[in-house]
Amino acid sequence: MNFDLTEEQKQIYDNSLAIAKKFNPKYWRTKDDNSEFPTEFWDEVSKSGLPSIPFPVSYGGLGLGLFELLLAVEAISRGGGGMDGAAIFPTGPAYGGLSILNGGTPSQKEELLPKVCKGELISLALTESESGSNVTRMKTFARGSENGEHYEINGTKQFISIAREAKHIVLAARTIEYERAEKKTDGIGLFICDTPSPNISFQTYRKCGFHMIDTSELAIRGLVVTSSRILGGDDKHAWPVLTNTLNASRLVFAIGAVGTGNLCLDIAVDYAKSRKVWDKPIGSHQGVAFPLVESYVGLEVARLAIYKAAWLYDNNRECSVETSVAKFQAVNAAFKAADDAMQTLGGLGYMQESDVERHWRNVRLLKMVPITQQMTATFLGTKALGLPRSY
Ligand SMILES: Cc1cc2nc3c(=O)[nH]c(=O)nc-3n(C[C@H](O)[C@H](O)[C@H](O)COP(=O)(O)OP(=O)(O)OC[C@H]3O[C@@H](n4cnc5c(N)ncnc54)[C@H](O)[C@@H]3O)c2cc1C
Repeated sequence: MNFDLTEEQKQIYDNSLAIAKKFNPKYWRTKDDNSEFPTEFWDEVSKSGLPSIPFPVSYGGLGLGLFELLLAVEAISRGGGGMDGAAIFPTGPAYGGLSILNGGTPSQKEELLPKVCKGELISLALTESESGSNVTRMKTFARGSENGEHYEINGTKQFISIAREAKHIVLAARTIEYERAEKKTDGIGLFICDTPSPNISFQTYRKCGFHMIDTSELAIRGLVVTSSRILGGDDKHAWPVLTNTLNASRLVFAIGAVGTGNLCLDIAVDYAKSRKVWDKPIGSHQGVAFPLVESYVGLEVARLAIYKAAWLYDNNRECSVETSVAKFQAVNAAFKAADDAMQTLGGLGYMQESDVERHWRNVRLLKMVPITQQMTATFLGTKALGLPRSY
């Protein structure tokens, strides 16, 4: 087993770190305060070609793998972007790009992948209020026309991120009602929809964190989509494509969490070395040091788990258990690191100027997104341990 990075991989990490360093904490704080998308940051990321990392050269990509994309996301988050910077990557290259790469028709790939490589954003609309984590019970319905030329889509999607910024939305809709489908994963289509559209209206939520990223309810009324826009050309591809894409995007979120956890540790360690309330720096007290060490260990373990899962993904091997292990560990470790960092900074940790409170709010979301920790545990219970299913 060789853990050395190649020269190219090191360069990707270093270049990404350099991009992250161009945007100081004040930039992120202001964007968060103003609920403003970090356009300047994403423009810089796009110019540098980072979104193109996992796509074939023929579509304008770098022809590398998910692993190299994860190196970039880790450097962006650790270098100061935190989850604010990392959370845009699932939307562009992962949700949209990898779905199209893995399941799109040749013309869908030719049209959309070069745009994804240039940083165009494609969001994913899966979640609905009634079905929640049980996504196969979605009610959004795509009715095919008699001549087979188009579908008309109606329904409501909940908690959809970056749909206002995105140029397209990969929208999941049933083509066969759940009750009539032979298998519950049958009869689901992924539709590539253009936005803005008069047939999709947005209601944006106010939320606890991630203020610079919009999260909205989408009301889809009478949206007509031509059959050429169903991913892969029919409704047979959605589930395997979704599983693959969700594995990849969970790893993107997970590595963003690890980078953010390490960023919080960096802030905490610096502070613990210099802050004296008695005669010695607070970092010399084991009550301060040990939680930071535990967080460090947790993040190291998470990174290894992510690298392993990414290796399996890039080698076209089954990786859903490894991805779940990695996501579960990364999120717990990152939240612990953010929380320990806040405690290390004392009252200052609760203040916006420390930045830790923003990272803490953002990392907390990952216990729910893109899949909840309980659903991840439920999956691991059945798939890794062979326990009976709870549902
Ligand atoms: C800020 C934000 C951004 C998001 N962005 C997107 C996006 O871009 N696209 C998208 O499609 N979705 C998005 N989501 C939706 C997100 O993926 C869901 O919120 C998440 O999957 C959980 O679904 P739910 O909120 O309906 O919770 P529910 O499914 O209602 O679950 C509620 C609670 O019950 C638990 N629970 C449910 N069933 C079980 C079970 N069988 N065993 C144990 N526990 C269980 C859950 O773990 C959870 O704690 C976003 C959500 C948020 C908050």
